[in-house]
Amino acid sequence: MSEIDRTQYLIDQEPYYRPVGQEVALYEAAYGVRMPIMLKGPTGCGKTRFVEYMAWRLGRPLITVACNEDMSASDLVGRFLLDINGTKWQDGPLTVAARLGAICYLDEVVEARQDTTVVIHPLTDHRRTLPLEKKGELVHAHPDFQLVISYNPRYQSLMKDLKQSTKQRFGAIDFDYPSAEIETEIVAHEGGVEHAIAEKLVQIAHRSRNLKGHGLDEGMSTRLLVYAAQLISRGVEPRAAAQMALVRPLTDDPDMRDTLDAAVNTYL
Ligand code: ADP
Repeated sequence: MSEIDRTQYLIDQEPYYRPVGQEVALYEAAYGVRMPIMLKGPTGCGKTRFVEYMAWRLGRPLITVACNEDMSASDLVGRFLLDINGTKWQDGPLTVAARLGAICYLDEVVEARQDTTVVIHPLTDHRRTLPLEKKGELVHAHPDFQLVISYNPRYQSLMKDLKQSTKQRFGAIDFDYPSAEIETEIVAHEGGVEHAIAEKLVQIAHRSRNLKGHGLDEGMSTRLLVYAAQLISRGVEPRAAAQMALVRPLTDDPDMRDTLDAAVNTYL
């Protein structure tokens, strides 16, 4: 028996998720065979929300790890800690998930160092094991365990990418910003604003997305649109809300800010 409380990782309320295609059915089928899944798409387009929704729908605990470049294999797997009684092993989040039978979501795994990505290999093939080398233990993943990673294809360079030997262990689902109609629905729901306001915010986002590669690295994400809508629903004047939530986070370039401000002023 594991001493970790599995219920703390369960999602008790249904997360709001607006499906955009076949992703729910595809994920369910993949989970049925415990296929590792890669969610591909730009930042703020709904990947995390989707995993939360699927974990709720399948009634599985969810353990999410935001990966960064300083992350080492020990941060995922675990380490010995010193305390007054000597050393004590502490499982990392991946080990906890494998023991509990959780869905483990590694967000932006490509950010992590290569040695980190290699530790997931034996978990993502027929072995479904996780060697805790420092501890001398081989963890056999619980039958309900599944690994999910997110991946933003636009940021990848040759220097920093997942190896083919890693990529080819996953089934992949493509994500992108939804169609204007669906995105408007999401922004209205999440931001608590009227349809007409949400629609205008989405139009501004479309302008910015067309500038991607022409001075902007990324256009405005659905997440930023939700932020702007939330400010508006709290009584902030729409243009000020859009500048704060949509324009300022995106760029520091004065000309680009003027261009985006002009788009804001056209619609709001
Ligand atoms: P990602 O993980 O892709 O960076 P998130 O899942 O955090 O993005 O999405 C950012 C926000 O956008 C969410 O908190 C949610 O408010 C909203 N969102 C995006 N897509 C959807 C969707 N399909 N259904 C519901 N909310 C969505």
